[in-house]
Amino acid sequence: MCVRSCFRSPRLQWVWRTAFLKHTQRRHQGSHRWTHLGGSTYRAVIFDMGGVLIPSPGRVAAEWEVQNRIPSGTILKALMEGGENGPWMRFMRAEITAEGFLREFGRLCSEMLKTTSVPVDSFFSLLTSERVAKQFPVMTEAITQIRAKGLQTAVLSNNFYLPNQKSFLPLDRKQFDVIVESCMEGICKPDPRIYKLCLERLGLQPSESIFLDDLGPNLKEAARLGIHTIKRQGFAVLPKLVSNSWAQANYPPSPPKVVRLQVNDPETAVKELEALLGFTLRVGVPNTRPVKKTMEIPKDSLQKYLKDLLGIQTTGPLELLQFDHGQSNPTYYIRLANRDLVLRKKPPGTLLPSAHAIEREFRIMKALANAGVPVPNVLDLCEDSSVIGTPFYVMEYCPGLIYKDPSLPGLEPSHRRAIYTAMNTVLCKIHSVDLQAVGLEDYGKQGDYIPRQVRTWVKQYRASETSTIPAMERLIEWLPLHLPRQQRTTVVHGDFRLDNLVFHPEEPEVLAVLDWELSTLGDPLADVAYSCLAHYLPSSFPVLRGINDCDLTQLGIPAAEEYFRMYCLQMGLPPTENWNFYMAFSFFRVAAILQGVYKRSLTGQASSTYAEQTGKLTEFVSNLAWDFAVKEGFRVFKEMPFTNPLTRSYHTWARPQSQWCPTGSRSYSSVPEASPAHTSRGGLVISPESLSPPVRELYHRLKHFMEQRVYPAEPELQSHQASAARWSPSPLIEDLKEKAKAEGLWNLFLPLEADPEKKYGAGLTNVEYAHLCELMGTSLYAPEVCNCSAPDTGNMELLVRYGTEAQKARWLIPLLEGKARSCFAMTEPQVASSDATNIEASIREEDSFYVINGHKWWITGILDPRCQLCVFMGKTDPHAPRHRQQSVLLVPMDTPGIKIIRPLTVYGLEDAPGGHGEVRFEHVRVPKENMVLGPGRGFEIAQGRLGPGRIHHCMRLIGFSERALALMKARVKSRVAFGKPLVEQGTVLADIAQSRVEIEQARLLVLRAAHLMDLAGNKAAALDIAMIKMVAPSMASRVIDRAIQAFGAAGLSSDYPLAQFFTWARALRFADGPDEVHRATVAKLELKHRI
Ligand SMILES: Cc1cc2nc3c(=O)[nH]c(=O)nc-3n(C[C@H](O)[C@H](O)[C@H](O)COP(=O)(O)OP(=O)(O)OC[C@H]3O[C@@H](n4cnc5c(N)ncnc54)[C@H](O)[C@@H]3O)c2cc1C
Repeated sequence: MCVRSCFRSPRLQWVWRTAFLKHTQRRHQGSHRWTHLGGSTYRAVIFDMGGVLIPSPGRVAAEWEVQNRIPSGTILKALMEGGENGPWMRFMRAEITAEGFLREFGRLCSEMLKTTSVPVDSFFSLLTSERVAKQFPVMTEAITQIRAKGLQTAVLSNNFYLPNQKSFLPLDRKQFDVIVESCMEGICKPDPRIYKLCLERLGLQPSESIFLDDLGPNLKEAARLGIHTIKRQGFAVLPKLVSNSWAQANYPPSPPKVVRLQVNDPETAVKELEALLGFTLRVGVPNTRPVKKTMEIPKDSLQKYLKDLLGIQTTGPLELLQFDHGQSNPTYYIRLANRDLVLRKKPPGTLLPSAHAIEREFRIMKALANAGVPVPNVLDLCEDSSVIGTPFYVMEYCPGLIYKDPSLPGLEPSHRRAIYTAMNTVLCKIHSVDLQAVGLEDYGKQGDYIPRQVRTWVKQYRASETSTIPAMERLIEWLPLHLPRQQRTTVVHGDFRLDNLVFHPEEPEVLAVLDWELSTLGDPLADVAYSCLAHYLPSSFPVLRGINDCDLTQLGIPAAEEYFRMYCLQMGLPPTENWNFYMAFSFFRVAAILQGVYKRSLTGQASSTYAEQTGKLTEFVSNLAWDFAVKEGFRVFKEMPFTNPLTRSYHTWARPQSQWCPTGSRSYSSVPEASPAHTSRGGLVISPESLSPPVRELYHRLKHFMEQRVYPAEPELQSHQASAARWSPSPLIEDLKEKAKAEGLWNLFLPLEADPEKKYGAGLTNVEYAHLCELMGTSLYAPEVCNCSAPDTGNMELLVRYGTEAQKARWLIPLLEGKARSCFAMTEPQVASSDATNIEASIREEDSFYVINGHKWWITGILDPRCQLCVFMGKTDPHAPRHRQQSVLLVPMDTPGIKIIRPLTVYGLEDAPGGHGEVRFEHVRVPKENMVLGPGRGFEIAQGRLGPGRIHHCMRLIGFSERALALMKARVKSRVAFGKPLVEQGTVLADIAQSRVEIEQARLLVLRAAHLMDLAGNKAAALDIAMIKMVAPSMASRVIDRAIQAFGAAGLSSDYPLAQFFTWARALRFADGPDEVHRATVAKLELKHRI
């Protein structure tokens, strides 16, 4: 029933949650008794703009600083800098342009923070964006009422010109009789002249008007002139914004550089304005509208019913409005004889028996009220359809605050924390209700809640499925296999979120929990997980605003883990281990709901853009769900008994090695000795011999292939690279690729976690692949032969993780088949590209295309004639927050405008046929559908792409080193100098020992990183990944260098792979990001976590 009703909602509104929307105490009865002619002496209200009609720059600055991790207060401090002659005030007087202001302002901020650049452009964009610069609805309503009473309205604003030469005025001009802007007049508040100008234009005396502003000095000057100002509540101390000669001349000095600035609270301001004017400014109930024709209900019989119910005698009219939301069960606001009520009814027409069970809502609210849970006070359930056509119930309207934005903008961190704590406490209260005592034992089935829910949502999803979403398919298999073993049964709310709670206007206290449509008896942990959804969603998520990109510590909001711990503590429960399961299930459920909405939108109930967006959301949310499933899967892995270290057998050099078989036989692992009975999965397998039998067999197959096919082919492959034909692929490589494919030594790189069904790759864990990758790394050619070479591996993983089905069909499949190659274009010659936020190449929208312009270099593989795809990173929005400016586009290499300027060389090596190209992209037009994930997601993607890709380089570097050491050992045994083999020289022995130790150290670190990636995911392994990126290339350089030294001049020639190994190892100290950047990461994480 509940599920169906969710799906019935035509917009992305889940249920009728907003039925009782934000509303402070309001509406004086008889408000019409005052008119300005009859009672009020005022004839005009003058409004400041920023902070009164729209959000203040201070509030926007606070939000922006959090997003950009800029110290709090920087922007306000920079705005006030220089006082009257500072850039901000000069900008307000139009003495400098927006560009000039941003230049000076940016410089000021950089000086303050002692950093090279502060992206003030993005602050300005946010300040003037449509999202932020919106008039407060409560003010619009107030202005309408003021004008309806015949009073004038004016805007008196310190304002500025935008780069398009228009002033920044995101208001409907028709609402105002007079508009006075500082940039047009060349004077700013609190200069008295500008107030006088405004009064003059209104044709009024000071005492005939009221002035609203959010800055003390501006209000004081108005008051000094005789204008009425509103003394408002709720001050916060913020840096002084205005500091000029009038202020200084006219006011006693306030505490240095600090003034009490009003909190941006339009509701309170309107209340005070109402009091001053003597008439109501709030006629409408928020989020209501006149009742739709098709939704009308007979007023007379309703009025009669209500009079009987409430025991009132009134002749006054019954006021009826319909709430915007609540299409599932139509919901009405009623005002009758000073009583504010809400009526909720079943929809008209034939209904399925279990659908729209308003009786259940009535029942649960009534029962919970008796148990002390804050819920709206329900008055009566009327099941007699003759009254208004369907059964309904009536409850009291519950005024209070509903926080729709989970980041709780405008509140102090301690207040935010208190709000979340109150939310947690009320949830505990719901879950602690004694079912028997309140008569709710039969409110739902007892036990097996989660399995039932999984079945229900799978069914719902299947019913609305439009295409195969891989993550959903995996979840449908995974969820039933990971059901919780034990479940408690309590009342569950079913849609427990912050915006379903009505809070006390001043206290962090929940006055009412709304929206019980999905309530039943079930596993309470489902509610807890569901109430943390916002923690994992971005703030731009259209359906449910999230907070995953906010700095929660700075905001004072408990992280999801802490919120959950808080819950367990309050409930007296031990910490729940399968928390990730509950999160996976919650997101799966949301994905299923979104898919239903998508399906309906496809059938014409919404615009095509809307449909497309919703479709993407389903995929996005299902991927989030799968991320949790993966985490939970790894946890389960970790806890399997065989992963405990039991036995270890350890040999360093057990048998003689051939020159071409350099890897030592090590056999040690954190799993017991390999036997057919157990597998290595999830364990830290330190030696290939301890791999699970199938993977061990794969390893030996690869080793055999290397010995039989790859090493012997090296001389020919190398001479091809030195020949005139080098820019064409070697036919021998193509031949070897076919052979490797036939032997199943193909696409081994895709981690199991990204490809759990082994749809695209071999399904190896990172640890397993580490052993195979090291082996491939012993030859420069093997990775390509096995289709495991960079940059294709990273690009393929990117497509598997983030590509649409169409993108996969076009690009992934040919890459997986080894028919195409690809490149990744990020680095630019003109900027330090180790800091990817510097990237300047532009991606601009033009009709249904993106047009790219930019200059790139060091693009590995771009010269290869087989290269069909360039994964391009550029900026779509230079004004967005730093890590949201970049996007990733899939650019077909045959698109006009891609101009390869030259191949670059690494120590003189061209690395043909792929090479490393310098390239210009000139007006390259790419269809919009080639965008990966969406605009602004570039960083997210690059991180996902470069994580495993970079660890593969480290694995190969161990292979380089092993091969170099093996070659060195063979050489020093046979080469005689000064009467004895080189191997008998102490320095040579020391070099060999040093190399062995360094290789072993690095390998352990690589395996540890791989193991952590397997157990806890790439993010949790960030420190270990950075450590090996720091360690592996320089270790390899040293080991190879010692080998070269032992070889004498021959070591530098191309007769041996040493010179090429050395070149690559050196290059990888940049190509993988410079060593210093990895060191910085390690140090940062060390300082963050280990003090
Ligand atoms: C062989 C090879 C292949 C490559 N392939 C590709 C490719 O396919 N695609 C692609 O986009 N790019 C590729 N690159 C480019 C590579 O990613 C960049 O060279 C690398 O990111 C560094 O950027 P940069 O060269 O602009 O150096 P810069 O950013 O100018 O840095 C220069 C130096 O500054 C120092 N430095 C930087 N940051 C810090 C810090 N935080 N602390 C201290 N010192 C610091 C370091 O010493 C660094 O080497 C390749 C490079 C090579 C050598």
